[in-house]
Amino acid sequence: MQRSLRSAARRIARDLPWVANRDPWAILVSEVMLQQTQARRVVEPWRRFLDELPTVAACAAAPRSVIIGLWGGLGYNRRAGYLHDTARVVVRDFDGRIPREPDVLRTLPGIGAYTANAVASFAFGVRVGVLDTNVGRVLARAIANHPLGRAEAQRLADQLVPRRDSAKHNQSMLDLGAQFCTSTPRCSACPLADHCAWRRGGGVDPARHSAGVSQGQSVFEGSDRQLRGRIVATLRSGPRRLEDLHRVYVDEEGRFERLLSTLVVDGLVERGDDFVRLVGDPRERVGWTISPGNVPT
Ligand code: SF4
Repeated sequence: MQRSLRSAARRIARDLPWVANRDPWAILVSEVMLQQTQARRVVEPWRRFLDELPTVAACAAAPRSVIIGLWGGLGYNRRAGYLHDTARVVVRDFDGRIPREPDVLRTLPGIGAYTANAVASFAFGVRVGVLDTNVGRVLARAIANHPLGRAEAQRLADQLVPRRDSAKHNQSMLDLGAQFCTSTPRCSACPLADHCAWRRGGGVDPARHSAGVSQGQSVFEGSDRQLRGRIVATLRSGPRRLEDLHRVYVDEEGRFERLLSTLVVDGLVERGDDFVRLVGDPRERVGWTISPGNVPT
C-alpha cells in the first residue's frame, strides 16, 4: 500500500502553495486555517495573511483586530483568536520558535491532535501520522474495513508512516482522502484499489461511523454561526455604535445580544457603553450609521 501510494504521489498531488513551504509559521497558519475550511478556500486567505504577518513575531505584535480582519472568507473566527494566542505564547515561552514535538504543540491554544501532528510532520519531518476526516475514511476503508475509534485510527495512521519521506506520505494520504476516498468514493480511479480491504471484502461503509470522520456540518443558513459571522464581518470595516447594530439586527433582537456576548467571551469583540469593535481595533469610533443593506452576509 505504501509503495502504491508513493508511486501515485505526483499524480494525485493537489496544487496547494503550503505543501512546498518549509517555514513552520507558514505551515502552522495553513493548518489552523484548514481545520474547518476546504483547502481551495484557504489558498487566498493564507497568502494574504502571510503577506501581512510573515512571522510569528509579527502576528504576536499585531492587534487582534488585524488577525480577525485577515480571517475574512474563512469562517469559524474563533480560530483567528486561537492563532493569535498561539503566536503570543510561542514568542513568550518558546523564544519565537514553534515547537516540533506534537505533545508540546498540543499545549498551544486551539491546537488539537490533527494540527499538532500536521505541523510536526510537514514542518519538522517528525514521523507521526496525520489524521483528519479524509485520512480517517481511508484508514477505515482501505485497511480496517470496520469503524475505527480515534485511538485505533491514530495507531494505524502512525504505523503506516514510512521511515523516509514521512511528510510526503502524510500529504499523499490527505490528497487521496480528499480526492478519491470521499464520502462517495471514486474507487475505480484510486491508486489503492488493489489493496483496499473494503473494496475486496464488501459490506457496510466502515467510514460512516468512524471516529474523526465528519458526519456533515449542521445547516448554516439561519444558524447562530452564520449570525456570529455576520456581526464579525460588519465590524471588520471598523467600530460601530451599538444602537446602529441593534437597528441592523432588529429582526434578530433576541439572538443578537446573546451572540454578541459569546463573541466577547471568545475574545473576538469588545464593547464599550455605546460602541462595539473587534478586540484591539485602533481605529477611531465612527460616527456614521449603517443600514441593513450595508451589512455583509
Ligand atoms: S478503493 Fe475506494 S474505498 Fe478503497 S481507499 Fe480507494 S477510494 Fe477509498
